[in-house]
Amino acid sequence: MSWVTVIWSMAASACLTLATVYLLAWCHRRTTWSYLLFAVAATATAAAAGGELCLMRAQTPGQLATLVRWIHVPIWVVVVATVAFVRFHLRAGRPWLAWGACVLRTASLLVNFLVAQNLNYREITRVLQVPFLGDTVSLAQGVVNPWMRLGQLSLLFYFAFGVDAAITVWRRRDGLAALLTGSSVAFFILIGGVQATLVVRGVLHWPFTMSLPFLGIVAAMAYELNRTVLGAAQLADALRESEERLREAAEAAGFGIYRFDLVSGTAFYSRELLALYGLPVSATLELDPDLVPKAVHPDDKAIFLGCMKRANDPDGSGILDLEFRILLKGGRERWLRVRGRTVFGGDGACRRPVRANGIIQDVSERKRVEQELGVQRLQLAHVSRVASMGQMASSLAHELSQPLGAILRNAEAAEMILQAPSLDLDEVRAILEDIRHDDQRAGAVIERVRDLMRRRDVMTTPLDLRQLAGDVIVLARPDADRRRVALAVETGPALPSVQGDRVQLQQVLLNLLLNAMDAVGDSPPREGRVTVRVRRTATAVEVSVIDNGHGIPADAMLRLFEPFYTTKPKGMGVGLPISKSIVEAHGGTLWAANNPEGGATFTFSLPVSAAGRGMRGEVNDESAIA
Ligand code: ADP
Repeated sequence: MSWVTVIWSMAASACLTLATVYLLAWCHRRTTWSYLLFAVAATATAAAAGGELCLMRAQTPGQLATLVRWIHVPIWVVVVATVAFVRFHLRAGRPWLAWGACVLRTASLLVNFLVAQNLNYREITRVLQVPFLGDTVSLAQGVVNPWMRLGQLSLLFYFAFGVDAAITVWRRRDGLAALLTGSSVAFFILIGGVQATLVVRGVLHWPFTMSLPFLGIVAAMAYELNRTVLGAAQLADALRESEERLREAAEAAGFGIYRFDLVSGTAFYSRELLALYGLPVSATLELDPDLVPKAVHPDDKAIFLGCMKRANDPDGSGILDLEFRILLKGGRERWLRVRGRTVFGGDGACRRPVRANGIIQDVSERKRVEQELGVQRLQLAHVSRVASMGQMASSLAHELSQPLGAILRNAEAAEMILQAPSLDLDEVRAILEDIRHDDQRAGAVIERVRDLMRRRDVMTTPLDLRQLAGDVIVLARPDADRRRVALAVETGPALPSVQGDRVQLQQVLLNLLLNAMDAVGDSPPREGRVTVRVRRTATAVEVSVIDNGHGIPADAMLRLFEPFYTTKPKGMGVGLPISKSIVEAHGGTLWAANNPEGGATFTFSLPVSAAGRGMRGEVNDESAIA
């Protein structure tokens, strides 16, 4: 077999093979138009190579004329397909040059079929046999067609387009493969164009070999596509690796991962997430997007759906952070924490949720511990109140002795009136009214103490801390009298209300008062004095218990709020820690400091409730209750 046949056949089959590969690739990824353009250019190059081989084997001028005419079809296809490839794939080359090359090439093709014989020859007169690569090939000789200049002009545009694209790609530093594609268009078309012109003009005694420069262009395009495919494969590998790392980390941390495509309505759940929901790990993880909401405990459903809605609201932050329960098979409950983020697409009015990603974690154990701690805290609070009971017994006796004594005296007076000869009914009515009033007072005292003793959950209401301080001082006053401690209260007339549990806050203040009285009682012979000051700050109401006792030693200062820390022989060391936890549960703070003039001040501050924010109060009223 001659070299000519071998080379041209191999060129054609190489192009067809590459074309088939990329055609199949395009069938799988229809959006990648560069694959199709390449397949079309490679097929046309194969056709051009086949046409040239036939030209070299043609026997008559008529055969040559027909073949030269038809070979312009694959040339037109190669030009248009490569220009489109460079424009769409490399995004290079000026559009007007691209249009110029394509339009002029199309015009050349039309002229080729309209004028005599073909675009290159007006008439082929002879068939020359010339030696070529150790073989003898046919060559046309005849009258050159002036329309050939149109074809040459189109190739000039094609060449300029290639140079321009190569410069753009080089400036952009898109990589060697991209640069090669752009420059090969220019380089090979220059060679092909010049060679064709010289052949037609009879300067060069060579056959048409346009397919060889085209082959160079196709090879550069294949190299560029290969780079893209390789890059995509490397990216896929990196992505797989990163997903694997993420999965391993999530597995180690016990997180389940989810991803919702809010546009297509599909969902992805990691194996860990399915395990959290007690579901078998399915081979396909594209599952029901309602899996998560469906399993939510009925009691938590409304809040869960509300949070989801807020997270997907285009005007919101897109953050989802929530703890909720799910119901597992067999009615078991599991506490989960979800932390997610919604990704939005579009701007302004067109902004809409596109994707939601997040993690879900099992927090059942933490919830159990929290609940246990809550119960223990309540029990501790109860213990503390019971511990205060002994001290309050005297207060109760003192408080009750007054109304009970009054009732007795009134009853005796009524008896005397009833024994008198003339019955004064008005007097009896007044006495009975007094008795009822005293009875109500005694009932209120008992109710207050009962409230303090009873264990119950937090019930918050708007509170006037001035009134609360007054209530607690009434309870502590008999004790203060017995210990000879002067009890005073300083407060503004119109303090804003705070939101809180009355009984718990009474307990805090009572505990601080009893501690203060202990402290002043321990430092005789000075006259003991304890002042309760209620005042407003910018955003809170502060209650301070100020004493002139022994103060807090430096080493005790750091440990005051530690559970069971006490310096008293019969102390329990639970009063301050419980008080602190109560105040903090109300969103406030409790702290202690020594006074410069001696003694200590314990202060708690509570945020002003929304209802009380409009009011202002100042410290201007001082009254002493001794
Ligand atoms: P306890 O009932 O044992 O006194 P608390 O938690 O109420 O437990 O107080 C812990 C410790 O804080 C007390 O033992 C005391 O040493 C110190 N303390 C509390 N209030 C005062 C105060 N007003 N002045 C000085 N020390 C105080």
